[in-house]
Amino acid sequence: MDRVYNFSAGPSVLPQSVLAKAQAELLNYADSGMSVMELSHRSSLFNDIIEKAEKDLRDLMDIPDNYQILFLQGGATLQFSMIPLNLMVKGKAGYIHTGSWSKKAIQEAKKYGEIDVIASSEDKGFTYIPKLDQVQFDQVYDYIHITTNNTIEGTAYSDIPDTGDIPLVADMSSNILSEVIDVKKFGVIYAGAQKNIGPAGLTLVIIREDLIGKAKKNCPVMLDYKTHSDSNSLYNTPPTFAIYMASLVFEWLKELGGVKKMEELNRGKAAILYGYLEQSKLFSSPVEKESRSLMNIPFATSTAALDAEFLAKAQAAGLVTLKGHRSVGGMRASIYNAMPVEGVKRLVEVMEIFENSHKV
Ligand code: PLP
Repeated sequence: MDRVYNFSAGPSVLPQSVLAKAQAELLNYADSGMSVMELSHRSSLFNDIIEKAEKDLRDLMDIPDNYQILFLQGGATLQFSMIPLNLMVKGKAGYIHTGSWSKKAIQEAKKYGEIDVIASSEDKGFTYIPKLDQVQFDQVYDYIHITTNNTIEGTAYSDIPDTGDIPLVADMSSNILSEVIDVKKFGVIYAGAQKNIGPAGLTLVIIREDLIGKAKKNCPVMLDYKTHSDSNSLYNTPPTFAIYMASLVFEWLKELGGVKKMEELNRGKAAILYGYLEQSKLFSSPVEKESRSLMNIPFATSTAALDAEFLAKAQAAGLVTLKGHRSVGGMRASIYNAMPVEGVKRLVEVMEIFENSHKV
């Protein structure tokens, strides 16, 4: 079977050339006679892989020297616990509530300290990002937490809030590396790998050095950022193959022209789909225009039955995993970095054909 256009929200499509390279090297990596999966994480060959991954990511995101890059496990979900365990020194943090993932982050953080929900878009079903430019962030907070891209609801911050001296912590799971960001605005950036980085099983943390070493006394050793920072992410056996795959993705992104070029391509892809949605009489997007995500684009017809019919037609045309999250229904096209523009064009074509065949 040919490869399909996979619109999954995660794990999601990887660049075909990256998969082909991994396939070519699968049995015998760099003439070692072993697969990367079989290499010791203490070997010089693996050391070269993780060092290159770190260096390439540093270049791609222009990460300053006073930030550490950690390759961890446990998904973004474990960061919901690690963030408060490591940063809650005074005992209070502020969260911006913009959807299902921020809800989980808030629920978990409440176990470790006092949480203020500073702003929320729950009043309108999380269809927008609250305006934060007038908000004065109280100095009592150990940190402020945002979710830069809301994977399920399809919203994203167009401006990163200025939290002054209070560290800004960002769950960037679904839009890391998709557009240029200024790392210096953040204390911590974290992301599960399975969208724009590589296979599931790897979690990336980019953390400013002064925020390391403040974990609670009873913090488990594996959940203390200092453990991983002191050992260059090799305290225990890391997800070696996932780190290797991430390094291939970083290499691919560099060859393509870096994050600036990627952002240009992503804006182009998103414009094709939003442009169609804006003029369609059948499909519509629930998200406010200024808060639209470049990565996850939910849309729907007027009825669940028509949605189901469209999903079946799309599937038959080789456009898969377009079903919206079970909490919101409808459709959702996740068009991460590795989704080629041809996939988005094909989706719009199939939507157009469907709409034309349902004209009243
Ligand atoms: N945060 C966001 C924004 C996500 O999109 C996801 C997963 O889709 C998560 C957190 C949870 O990530 P994980 O499954 O890696 O724990």
